[in-house]
Amino acid sequence: MIALTDVTKRYAGGVAALGGVSLRVEAGELVAIVGPSGSGKSTMLNLIGTLDRPTSGTVHIAGYDVAALDDRQLSALRATRIGFVFQQFHLASGTSAVDNVADGLLYSGLPLAERRRRARAALERVGLGHRGSHRPHELSGGERQRVAIARAVVGEPPLLLADEPTGALDTASGKGVMDLLRCLHEADTTVVIITHDREIAATLPREVRMRDGLVES
Ligand code: ADP
Ligand code: MG
Repeated sequence: MIALTDVTKRYAGGVAALGGVSLRVEAGELVAIVGPSGSGKSTMLNLIGTLDRPTSGTVHIAGYDVAALDDRQLSALRATRIGFVFQQFHLASGTSAVDNVADGLLYSGLPLAERRRRARAALERVGLGHRGSHRPHELSGGERQRVAIARAVVGEPPLLLADEPTGALDTASGKGVMDLLRCLHEADTTVVIITHDREIAATLPREVRMRDGLVES
């Protein structure tokens, strides 16, 4: 599902955020990425998510060499293969939960009524079938993150990437979100989660530790 080979990333201004990383993740894995702040975790996840391109090295996602794709093909790859979840949810504020989730199908070409039908089904899957008409400010943090997860998976991508998804949540809500990510993994989605929480990381089958822009172990 993911193959990074000798990947470096140098941002404008000269910071070497990744110093030569190789990593393989097989389809169906559930992987934690851990490491101190500034160690390159988000940079690596953004490269895996094709939100950014490496300075050198190769990135293969779902069998595609990212460097060989133009921007349109890359957008299509993202829209059909990759779901994203972020610490700060990134939901549209004046918009109902159903329509936030339906936005995850904007590039699908499906008509609005069908996008909404699938969005309602995705909200059911995350335990929020009764919250569809609520807007984000009417939901708790944990519920907002579950809406964001529903949006990420409504198109049934094989790969789900989460950057500190429990970072803004209390312990109980964080546990709910982790349980949900585990369920998605059990339903065959490949899941990669950046987490600061060593306890969470220790419960996952594989832990990738980063330090100073390198995979330490
Ligand atoms: P982590 O997610 O592990 O905290 P990041 O990948 O965000 O680490 O950052 C790795 C390094 O790259 C840090 O030194 C950070 O300051 C730098 N960095 C991250 N994003 C950018 C950017 N857009 N422009 C310049 N430097 C960046
Ligand atoms: Mg980060």
